[in-house]
Amino acid sequence: MAAAWERNSSYVSNIFSSLVLTGQRSMASLTYNYSKLLSAYGVQVIKGDVVEVDPVGVKVKLADGTVLAADRIVMAPGIEFDSVPGLGTSNRMPHAWQAGAQTTLLANQLASMTNGAPVVLTIPKMPYRCPPGPYERACLVADWLKTKKPKSKLFVLDANPRIVTEEANFTSGFALNGITYVPNAEITSVDPASMTVNTTMGSFKNNGAVNLIPGQRAGGLIRTAGLNNATKLPGDADFRFAGVNQLSYASTVSGAGKIHIIGDSSATAQPKAGHIANQEAKVCADAIVRAFAGLQPDQAPVTSSACYSTITMSQASWLTAVFQYDPVSAAMVANAAGSGASTGWSSGNFKEMNTWFNALMADSFA
Ligand SMILES: Cc1cc2nc3c(=O)[nH]c(=O)nc-3n(C[C@H](O)[C@H](O)[C@H](O)COP(=O)(O)OP(=O)(O)OC[C@H]3O[C@@H](n4cnc5c(N)ncnc54)[C@H](O)[C@@H]3O)c2cc1C
Repeated sequence: MAAAWERNSSYVSNIFSSLVLTGQRSMASLTYNYSKLLSAYGVQVIKGDVVEVDPVGVKVKLADGTVLAADRIVMAPGIEFDSVPGLGTSNRMPHAWQAGAQTTLLANQLASMTNGAPVVLTIPKMPYRCPPGPYERACLVADWLKTKKPKSKLFVLDANPRIVTEEANFTSGFALNGITYVPNAEITSVDPASMTVNTTMGSFKNNGAVNLIPGQRAGGLIRTAGLNNATKLPGDADFRFAGVNQLSYASTVSGAGKIHIIGDSSATAQPKAGHIANQEAKVCADAIVRAFAGLQPDQAPVTSSACYSTITMSQASWLTAVFQYDPVSAAMVANAAGSGASTGWSSGNFKEMNTWFNALMADSFA
């Protein structure tokens, strides 16, 4: 029997959540339920928090104290955020990087701010969830400002030394939308009361809205289970993400081979993207089915990722990548022949973006 534990009774898609900020999508239109898992596949979905995973004993402990043993455990707890000095418990600088209440907070802040007040969006050091996501959000919001708050300007404060993906399209998109781009801007502290963001490239004060996207690491359950054994940034005491065997997504922690980690929590060269999480789930499920039959995992998995980025409120660019398993490095590596980006953007791409989204969600929740 298969069972799934999830702390929320429905899923709100991060993908397309930036369109909520511009009023082009509602939160309800991005909300999915898990009913098909039971009706079509017999998977019991139990609402609640998993509080502990025993990676060697292959057991989960639930918030009510129940302990359950399993043949295999698949974990996909997403991400959690680094703390930002000065932020405390304030909700005046939402990340809106886990769709839900934070998205609504940022949408309300943008809608109610004074026309002429600056808007700041911060980008953390890689690796973070959805590499093109902050840049596309910046373009979208700046295009929205043009008509809704035409005296306001958007500042993108990027902790990275340059735009990390689709550089040509986003550089042109930033110019088109009048965005001020500040690279190497690492956040040192914030002051929500005065809406100030202090960075290694100076202080940005009196903002009308701040979208503060902090540095990211695997969902907390990975750390408490001792499965975070990959990826350190300068100054880190602990590893951020979970190392996995990329043929099966089994943990590389000694003795924890029956725990599989997929999605943003795992450390691979594939982007932290929903499309990739969907592909990893399929490779992982196939490997588990083979293991139950006493077989080795497929030795040549291939995954792909497609991504559309909004450059304006009605036009998009695209980026695609194919990854193949390389036995020498024991890792999924990008195949240059199958990867590429659009030259510029179009309304046709924007339309295709909707088709792509509907297909991914239908596949993930069908
Ligand atoms: C603005 C934005 C735009 C994006 N656009 C794209 C895009 O265009 N294309 C694309 O491919 N990707 C995109 N992404 C990235 C995509 O949303 C993520 O990569 C994807 O959601 C990762 O899936 P996940 O399962 O790892 O994590 P999540 O989707 O965060 O799911 C984790 C789940 O685990 C549950 N959970 C966590 N801990 C526990 C616990 N202890 N007990 C019980 N349940 C728990 C959570 O409730 C959550 O439902 C975007 C992201 C953002 C923020």
